[in-house]
Amino acid sequence: MHELSIAMSMIEMATEEAERRGGVQVSAVHLKLGPLSGVVKEALLFSYDVACEGTPLEGSRLVIEDVPVVVYCPECEEERTLDSIQKFSCAVCETPTPQILRGQELEIVALEIEG
Ligand SMILES: [Zn+2]
Repeated sequence: MHELSIAMSMIEMATEEAERRGGVQVSAVHLKLGPLSGVVKEALLFSYDVACEGTPLEGSRLVIEDVPVVVYCPECEEERTLDSIQKFSCAVCETPTPQILRGQELEIVALEIEG
């Protein structure tokens, strides 16, 4: 499963970071996730719990922040947030645009440390 390997590499990164900070206990990992990342949120949450077992991160939480898809509209010359990822066009003037600025994120933004 795709999400499981992603969860495992996230846990690995967080474990290394916790060690760098002197072996602190991580209570939560905060992640930014865009709809275009190709990752299913529910599957990732589930995989995280499974992958945490037996690691220093066992019992920690994965907190996912959803990132909207933002495109650039050449007509309006503005950034526009997409209402739906089914339709890549400007929400105001309806001009189709392939220029994606945000929405592909899959990145750890913060670690919550216990204590
Ligand atoms: Zn527009």
